[in-house]
Amino acid sequence: MTDETIFSKIIRQEIPTPLLYQDELVSAFRDIAPRVSTHILIVPNKHIPTTNDVTDADELTMGRMFTVARKLAKQEGVDESGYRLIVNCNKDGGQEVYHIHMHLLGGQRLGEMLAL
Ligand code: AMP
Repeated sequence: MTDETIFSKIIRQEIPTPLLYQDELVSAFRDIAPRVSTHILIVPNKHIPTTNDVTDADELTMGRMFTVARKLAKQEGVDESGYRLIVNCNKDGGQEVYHIHMHLLGGQRLGEMLAL
């Protein structure tokens, strides 16, 4: 496991990023550099660096990330218009922060899925 990232500090509210959601398993907050009008990160409270580090014991947490995505998409008013959920893994996947996170992106028609 790599060291904790800034996301752990946000989850513990050691830095004052507003939380859109938090429960015992996951937290959600707005991306600091939003690519579209709705750009939210949904993260496990536990530090899991990448999807390669997910274990069977994390299944409830991974599922919770999806149910929170559904709730936040509705709250943001993008549930019917549509949105995209992205989880990047390691270098080729474009991962920058090594604490698993699900991007919730919406608010406009998104382009092609892959920019190569
Ligand atoms: P990824 O490339 O999938 O690892 O995405 C990392 C995301 O974290 C990027 O979209 C960054 O803009 C975002 N990010 C980095 N630092 C912060 C922060 N302090 N608060 C919110 N979002 C952040």
